[in-house]
Amino acid sequence: EKKSQENQQFEENLDGLRFVQFHFSDPTGGLHYMEESIDNVPGILKSGVGVDGSSVIGFGQVEKSDIILFPERSSFSRFVVEGEEIGMYWCHVLTPELEKHPNDPRNVLQLVIDKAAKMGFECEMFSELEFYVLDEKTRKPVDNARYLSPPPLDKCSRLRYDFGHAYEKAGLKVKRIHHELGPGQNEVELQLTPVMKNCDDSMIAIWLAQLISSKYNWVVDFTPKPFPEIPGNGLHQHIRLKDIKTKENVMAAKEGGLSKIALQFIAGMLKYSRDITAVFGNDPNTYDRLKPGYEAPIYATWDYSNRSALVRIPAIGKGDLSKTRVEFRGGDASGSIHLLCAMILAAGLKGIEENLECPKNTIGDVAHLTEQELKDLKIEILPTSLPESLKILEESKFIAEFIDPSLKTFMNQNGLQKMKK
Ligand code: GLN
Ligand code: MG
Ligand code: MG
Ligand code: MG
Repeated sequence: EKKSQENQQFEENLDGLRFVQFHFSDPTGGLHYMEESIDNVPGILKSGVGVDGSSVIGFGQVEKSDIILFPERSSFSRFVVEGEEIGMYWCHVLTPELEKHPNDPRNVLQLVIDKAAKMGFECEMFSELEFYVLDEKTRKPVDNARYLSPPPLDKCSRLRYDFGHAYEKAGLKVKRIHHELGPGQNEVELQLTPVMKNCDDSMIAIWLAQLISSKYNWVVDFTPKPFPEIPGNGLHQHIRLKDIKTKENVMAAKEGGLSKIALQFIAGMLKYSRDITAVFGNDPNTYDRLKPGYEAPIYATWDYSNRSALVRIPAIGKGDLSKTRVEFRGGDASGSIHLLCAMILAAGLKGIEENLECPKNTIGDVAHLTEQELKDLKIEILPTSLPESLKILEESKFIAEFIDPSLKTFMNQNGLQKMKK
């Protein structure tokens, strides 16, 4: 297989480019890249490029600090950064022995994608990325607009157009960008793409948003709960499973509604919701968002078009069955998007594997359920603090199946450090 990769034609369009960036992600979701002169690119496509892992958060755990970035040819894109058109590849992080580094979130996601393929599924997702637009100096929201308010109340419309154009040029597929409920709060919604590309694209979307907003002397804040009394920033994921051979949407029942596979996938997400949360929520701020009253979930329930549920089944308009999908509303952008999606997919697949029975959908605002009702309905309560999540991280068999001890150790230390701040 190595050989055939080497013999692959150099087919990406590098015409006119002077620099190419080799991107990778650390386990806290931070974006990094090594930039290379164009002459160096053919060599790197063959054998990767070594960088100092001990200077990047999350890769200093193993004795040897060299890490190797190995580019994925299919991830190539070109776009304009700081006025320069550049080429870009996403990389898998390898150890010096050329093994997949267990702390690389893209490697974790790849393992789960491989598992899905063995079960006969291909997974697509799209992110809804919420963020506040703040004045760089005052750190206050730049407007007082609400959900879908037009200008002049909404002061972010020019910024959103700039995002849209930049995203299109970078090859990101955008569904919509709109003002959200909070003052200065906005949202980018991408389109369904293979799950790895969705995660890569989400990280580029956040990065370009940071670059573009700085031109306005504004900052974009994606933290889960930047202000206590106004809505938090979710990172909802929409998920669709397809048959790997026929490419049919296996979440849609033939007669409409959800298929058995979809219901099992939902059951898996609910059963392992505490574990999913413990992995993506490695920051105390995650738990400030998961409170009642702000359209963020606190219990592991599901329902149709119910925004207090952890899993929501979006209405699909005039019955286009290919659109049938499920939405996981628990996530946020405080950590790695790749790890978030890896855990969502892993949990859903477990539901199918374990042939789980899906509990009944819980109708109404579940924030008002009593303790007895929660017990009777066997509803899991999402973790309410980082210490609680660190304990789950330590004890969960589900997490241990997908997250290597070296990554777990890092997350534990990272979490403890964040608690001190
Ligand atoms: N901001 C909410 C959250 O924290 C979501 C609001 C919405 O998209 N309806 O998840
Ligand atoms: Mg949305
Ligand atoms: Mg939203
Ligand atoms: Mg949503």
